[in-house]
Amino acid sequence: MAPAAIPDNHQLHVFLFPVMAQSLMIPMVDVARLFAARGLKSTIITTPLNAMNVSKSVERDRLSGLNINVQIIPFPGVEAGLPEGIECLNEITSPEMMPKFFKAMDMVQEPFEKLLEQHRPDFVVAGMFLTWATESTAKFGIPRFVFHAANFFYLSAKESLRLHKPYETISTDHTDENSSSFVIPGLPDKIEMSTAQIPSHSESSNFVVEMQKKISESEVNSYGILVNSFYELEPAYAEHYKTVLGRKAWHIGPISLLNEHAADKAQRGKKSAIDEHYVLKWLDSKEPNSVLYVSFGSVSRVNDNQLLELAMGLESSGCSFIWVVRQIKKDDEERFLPTGFEERVKGRGLIIRDWAPQLLILDHQAVGGFMTHCGWNSVLESISAGVPMITWPMFADQFYNDIFITQVIKMGTPLGPKEHNWLDSKNVSLVKNDKIEMVVSWLMGDGEEAKNMRKRAKEISEMAKKSVEEGGSSYADLTSLIEEMRIYTKK
Ligand code: UDP
Repeated sequence: MAPAAIPDNHQLHVFLFPVMAQSLMIPMVDVARLFAARGLKSTIITTPLNAMNVSKSVERDRLSGLNINVQIIPFPGVEAGLPEGIECLNEITSPEMMPKFFKAMDMVQEPFEKLLEQHRPDFVVAGMFLTWATESTAKFGIPRFVFHAANFFYLSAKESLRLHKPYETISTDHTDENSSSFVIPGLPDKIEMSTAQIPSHSESSNFVVEMQKKISESEVNSYGILVNSFYELEPAYAEHYKTVLGRKAWHIGPISLLNEHAADKAQRGKKSAIDEHYVLKWLDSKEPNSVLYVSFGSVSRVNDNQLLELAMGLESSGCSFIWVVRQIKKDDEERFLPTGFEERVKGRGLIIRDWAPQLLILDHQAVGGFMTHCGWNSVLESISAGVPMITWPMFADQFYNDIFITQVIKMGTPLGPKEHNWLDSKNVSLVKNDKIEMVVSWLMGDGEEAKNMRKRAKEISEMAKKSVEEGGSSYADLTSLIEEMRIYTKK
């Protein structure tokens, strides 16, 4: 029997299935809100423990009448060998837990297919690690889009490394930065990296290599790729990704710019550990561009010795700062603060433990710099707010983002170690307090170069804002994607 014709007034229904990690759920919830704001029905699929935060993030939109819903799917973490209560990648405390988490995500395929059968959405956007979603949607003839919380530069560079493996022909001596550096083949700019900035290939488990391969295959076999970036930020890389690498991609960011109200900016991911009104009042009392925001994202942990150096560097810089501190383990004692530190920096230093209302902070005019681990969401939020960065990458795409910020768009200055590290940061060389003080004072100071970087940051921020306004490049790309889906459903 032929399928029933789709009526002209049919409301397109999109399923959004984010990978269960704060930095992947936050932007995808915003994508769901973006589709709902364009008149689509958006259904976010997530697991029981993540559902509460996700529901809170879309509550205001629901109340304003948008068609946005949350559908719960079970998470078989315990069956996959994880401790009870872990449904988010951020809660992983050892590298060994990683494959188990991915196994649990794979086991979600079957219940997800039941949901597809039951609801028959018009198209699906699923996070990049849910590689099986391409196959699942194909069973029902539903187009699947891959969502990347990453930029075109990283996607292009990563694919070049996967295909050409330039690091295989050079020395593996990680102690000598120069002897281990290589050029990433085929990119629009000459980009050099060192083997220390990517996971060591002798250590790199088959699991990581396999996952990269699966992601790449699912990209090629999917209907297309949604990228949280905007064309004007990286035109050469957007073109390279689409034309040279042949990926069908839409740039629809910066997605976080959807959050115009303070309530939306404050309610992202988890509940903030500090009252947002207090933070705003604190920032209101500071001069424009005078506060440095320091945060290393939702996953990275910095060891006590490094935190101590950071505390000393921030103190001696004399700058005002907001510092979000997250330790290696939740129950670690706070040994890292120098004696009397909080007393001495009272009034000019604000420490937030665990989760900060980041978007609200970055968008405040008092914030003039962001010391960041270079997670793409944080970087793009900083770009959107026009705040120049001090880069401190640790793992995954963060080293690529570091290069992108400091060498391609020139909106930041480097500080962090040049070695890849994840969770167990004990073996990484320390960045000493005098270097921290110097870099912070440079970025927050009145020197000509720093002033120019601030000016450039404001110009890029203006471009970002224009791209998501009606008539802008990201707005237009989202429109073309929705139109394409309308036509597709009528075929
Ligand atoms: N975030 C936040 N408060 C925090 C830490 C992070 O709101 O205290 C948000 C931040 O705004 C960003 C996301 O969490 O949207 C972190 O994603 P990113 O890609 O920067 O880094 P990751 O967490 O993956 O390392």
